[in-house]
Amino acid sequence: MMMNVILLAHTPEPDALVAAAAKICYRDVTASELLKVEEEAPSRKLIAELFKSGHMSTFEHVSFTFAVDGLSRVASHQLVRHRLASFSQQSQRYVKMVSDPEAVIVPDSIKSNPEALKIFNEAVERSQQAYADLIKLGIAKEDARFILPHGHSTRLVMTMNARELHHFFGLRLCRRAQWEIQELARKMLALCREKAPILFEKAGPSCIFGSCHEARFCGQPYKDMEELLRVRNEELGVRSEK
Ligand SMILES: Cc1cc2nc3c(=O)[nH]c(=O)nc-3n(C[C@H](O)[C@H](O)[C@H](O)COP(=O)(O)OP(=O)(O)OC[C@H]3O[C@@H](n4cnc5c(N)ncnc54)[C@H](O)[C@@H]3O)c2cc1C
Repeated sequence: MMMNVILLAHTPEPDALVAAAAKICYRDVTASELLKVEEEAPSRKLIAELFKSGHMSTFEHVSFTFAVDGLSRVASHQLVRHRLASFSQQSQRYVKMVSDPEAVIVPDSIKSNPEALKIFNEAVERSQQAYADLIKLGIAKEDARFILPHGHSTRLVMTMNARELHHFFGLRLCRRAQWEIQELARKMLALCREKAPILFEKAGPSCIFGSCHEARFCGQPYKDMEELLRVRNEELGVRSEK
């Protein structure tokens, strides 16, 4: 199953809004002057200064809402640890899970090893059969689900403000983060950059800002944003999207 990430909604004119928040702090401007159209360069400079000085509360005025499916519960468990984000996730109490091998995410390491894949597929089939049998016996979905694999796919809607997004990208685009959450973060960053190219001109792990903050250095720091966004799924051990 392919991971799908869609930007459902975002605050209008995110770059201009953060620049407006900065202007009220640093310039003698009235409320009605704040969103006066100006050249892109002053906003870019202002936002770069906010970023450099750590005045990141200004980034909290804009938010982005994504819909995601084809993500495993392994990854969603990590995702929902981000406390400043808002989540609505498909319930396994109310929605009956399909007995379909495609509903389970298969890591590439297993997919590329025929013996491992056989063990994996057999276990998935057994657990899905047991789930279906428990439901037939009248066991509630909320209890039958205990037998389902951790790799079962899920669906969710989440909202993060731009400050939290930067924090998220910093942690989850690191090459040491789990491959699936890296894939999710990469897709989210690409969508954010389409709508807020200045706010997300630079974002990602500490290596892209010049130094690694990770305890165990991966040895492959990202050189620039192009490389960060371009990195192929296969390099990450991510399953093919075909
Ligand atoms: C490489 C890696 C390995 C990990 N390994 C483990 C693991 O082995 N076990 C495990 O349980 N988790 C693990 N985690 C998850 C990690 O501990 C965090 O729960 C997760 O990354 C969310 O990060 P956060 O708390 O910084 O972010 P958010 O919850 O998104 O919060 C953003 C920021 O807000 C501030 N904040 C939020 N809530 C509070 C608060 N209550 N008090 C003070 N400040 C707050 C902090 O500055 C925080 O960084 C791992 C994460 C990574 C990236």
